[in-house]
Amino acid sequence: MTRGEKAGRIQAILDQLFPETPIPLAHHDPYSLLVAVLLSAQTTDKKVNQVTPALFAAASDPAAMAALGEARIREIVREVGLAPQKARAIEGLSRMLVEAHAGRVPSDLEALERLPGVGHKTASVVMSQAFGVPAFPVDTHIHRLAARWGLSDGRSVERTERDLKRIFPREDWNRLHLQMIYFGRAHCPARWHRLEDCPICSWAATKKRMREEARANDALRQRRRG
Ligand code: SF4
Repeated sequence: MTRGEKAGRIQAILDQLFPETPIPLAHHDPYSLLVAVLLSAQTTDKKVNQVTPALFAAASDPAAMAALGEARIREIVREVGLAPQKARAIEGLSRMLVEAHAGRVPSDLEALERLPGVGHKTASVVMSQAFGVPAFPVDTHIHRLAARWGLSDGRSVERTERDLKRIFPREDWNRLHLQMIYFGRAHCPARWHRLEDCPICSWAATKKRMREEARANDALRQRRRG
């Protein structure tokens, strides 16, 4: 099976498993999505959705957020990890949006990446989910799955993004990005698992990968017995 054929079969399975792809982070406009995505680094979407209602009730646009100030933002978002850095970034980007973008979130990848605390992945999520521009943000789930399914070599997230963009049709990137995240959350356990039971790895993983997983599973079982 060629890589293209494999990608087509994977896409068909993802479409079947996840026909709907709601955006997991609660938001009401591009600005609230940008802030929510920034807050989601190294924490769960559920945790972010618990703190953002209070944050946006206190300040719903960049000018109000800049006026709210870093200390108050930190207090409101303290339950998400890395709250001090995230609060500083939220205040900084809000100020920059007011000063350089008339208080609006630019629909421009490079301009987004220039905002404090906004990296390529965050900017790509905003382009995709707020503006509908095709992008393929690669998070840890997607990076790992692309390697396990033999769609990329797993050396870096940059290579994974490049490979996925080459293999899948541009108009499907936004949906696939979310479908892969949903797949990883639903099917990839934190601990050992049987590749044979997985709707995709069971046929898409390479023999080498299957052997590695089997060895890891055996080692884990041995440790548990010992
Ligand atoms: S076999 Fe495991 S790693 Fe591979 S996709 Fe399925 S659940 Fe995830």
